[in-house]
Amino acid sequence: MAALTLADVTKVFSDGSDDAVIAVDGVDMEIRDGEFLVLVGPSGCGKSTTLRMIAGLESVTQGEIRLGDRRINDVAPADRNIAMVFQSYALYPHMTVRENMSFGLEESTGMADAEVAATVEESASMMGIEELLDRKPSDLSGGQQQRVALGRAIVRDPEAFLMDEPLSNLDAKLRATMRTELQRIQEELGVTTVYVTHDQTEAMTMGDRIAVLDEGVLQQVGTPLECYHEPANRFVAGFIGEPSMNFFDVERQGTRLVADRFDYPLSEATHAALGDTTELALGIRPEDIELVGEPGDHAFETVVDVVEPMGDANACYLTFDRSGTDPETFVATVGGMQQVEAGQPAVAHLPESAIHLFDRA
Ligand code: ADP
Repeated sequence: MAALTLADVTKVFSDGSDDAVIAVDGVDMEIRDGEFLVLVGPSGCGKSTTLRMIAGLESVTQGEIRLGDRRINDVAPADRNIAMVFQSYALYPHMTVRENMSFGLEESTGMADAEVAATVEESASMMGIEELLDRKPSDLSGGQQQRVALGRAIVRDPEAFLMDEPLSNLDAKLRATMRTELQRIQEELGVTTVYVTHDQTEAMTMGDRIAVLDEGVLQQVGTPLECYHEPANRFVAGFIGEPSMNFFDVERQGTRLVADRFDYPLSEATHAALGDTTELALGIRPEDIELVGEPGDHAFETVVDVVEPMGDANACYLTFDRSGTDPETFVATVGGMQQVEAGQPAVAHLPESAIHLFDRA
């Protein structure tokens, strides 16, 4: 087992013309030995490219990738001792599950036949696919095929696992089961793992830590709770959490934050911590807005526009004023028992302890 280090890793795709794409831009991060790190960000932000550089399927334009103490930039993919699992399973259709799992194992490990057979059985049992060993991939469900793909990765006893959206072809229920199972297996094996997803919920539930990427640039690496409670910037704040954080563009006037329908006094401490910045975005999570009490310094009169049930809570879309043609709404989540009705007035309390202030991006 080993830590995986990315130092100033950059990937530029260039076809010789002027429009080169900087897919990954100076990424520095260390995935600790045995850690489950989720690399998350919107489509096109450079997740797959990062993973493919670690696997050796893409060259590194600049920077260094190390597995343990070993620089692996120029090591052939097969010699990196890293296993990759793809969304598409990538099983050989003409081989049985057993053959898929054992393929190439003898050559790469020097194991004897009997040892290969025993190792395959052991990994199959870990994945719960012993019964499927003599079937072909076409006789398996999507979920079973993904288990085989994982079993094939495990059997190689790699120093690191790379997973590129491995669950995205499965239905929601199976995906939830497999998330838990993947975590169990990763913990049991203690293999350093980088897991790519665009789904922030998956990232929040699965990662020991998550690394948030946007436009090739690493925005924050932290535990899910750190990224949720202490987002490094407006991008991370908006990306992590569902429904998304609300943002209000505000201007600082003395110790107040002012916008069109918004006048929000700040405590001395918050005011002092802000330095000279005047153009700010005030962020608040939907679950931190309280629809109770009287209007006041941090509590504003609003109108409930739409109420959307979300299971045990409701998402209430609120507007300060419905008279405009395109009124700006923001969202508050409140417990299902609280009576809130569309068209009714509501007082939205934005506690100062819950607000986040960012540079306007
Ligand atoms: P993600 O996995 O986050 O969706 P990718 O790593 O696939 O993002 O892509 C990052 C950026 O690099 C995108 O702008 C994409 O179009 C570009 N890109 C990826 N692969 C290539 C390639 N082979 N040639 C040119 N551009 C590429």
